[in-house]
Formats: sequence, C-alpha cells, structure tokens
Amino acid sequence: MSKIKVVPCSGIGKVFGLLSREAGLKVTKELCPELCEAVCLARVMTVDDDAKESIEGKTCIAVDGCPKMCAAKTLEAAGGVVKAKFRAVDTMRLHRGEDAGTGTFLTDAGWNMSGELAEQVSEKVKELAKEEA
Ligand code: SF4
Repeated sequence: MSKIKVVPCSGIGKVFGLLSREAGLKVTKELCPELCEAVCLARVMTVDDDAKESIEGKTCIAVDGCPKMCAAKTLEAAGGVVKAKFRAVDTMRLHRGEDAGTGTFLTDAGWNMSGELAEQVSEKVKELAKEEA
C-alpha cells in the first residue's frame, strides 16, 4: 500500500494557512509518518510530473486553511482520490475569541489549535490505512 498523501494548503498571509501547514507537518513527521507523507501542493499545481504521479489515483487528505479549499480542489483536479477534507478555520471556530497568531507565527493558542487539527487528521489517516490494508 502506498502511503496516504496529506496535503496542506500552506496559504500565505493569513493564520489559516500556517495552521494547516503545521498540522500537516505534525501528522506526517510525528504522529504517523509510517502511514502517510506530505506532498507539496505547489508542485501539484505546477503539474510537476513526479508530484502528479504521486497523487493520481492515490488516497489523499486535504488540510485546507479556509473555505476556498485550494488543496482539495487542486488534488481533485490532479486526479487524487480525496477521502477527507479538513479546514483550519473550523478548528479556529471551536476556539472563538482566542488569538491563534498571524500568517508568520502561531501563539500558544495557535499551536494548540494546530495540534488539535493534527490529531483529527491523524485519526483519519489511521482509519483510512486500516480500510486499505
Ligand atoms: S485554502 Fe484558503 S488559506 Fe489555503 S491557500 Fe487557499 S485561500 Fe489560502
């Protein structure tokens, strides 16, 4: 079985993108590196052959920042099988009133939010990996 692709949007300029990237990194590097791997969204967008090959027909999880859903849409357009879609903005809504940080740094509350999002994504990775085993 090939590893599940976890792809954060990594949007620039707003805290949403930073939250999505940090959550994606935590899942792929710390929480379940044996089951999933990150793919750079920019490489998929530029139709890089290696990146396209790694996505096409493969199980993907999009970790987007906001309702624009750039990662999910790009993965679907590139032929990825997007089995789960997460949005950092939904995690932030659960922490209304807390300051998560900016597009360049996370506060302690922001790190907590990205950790929470990463936990949700890693649970989905484990569930999908079990289904595909
Ligand atoms: S999903 Fe939102 S935060 Fe992420 S790249 Fe797109 S517009 Fe930016």
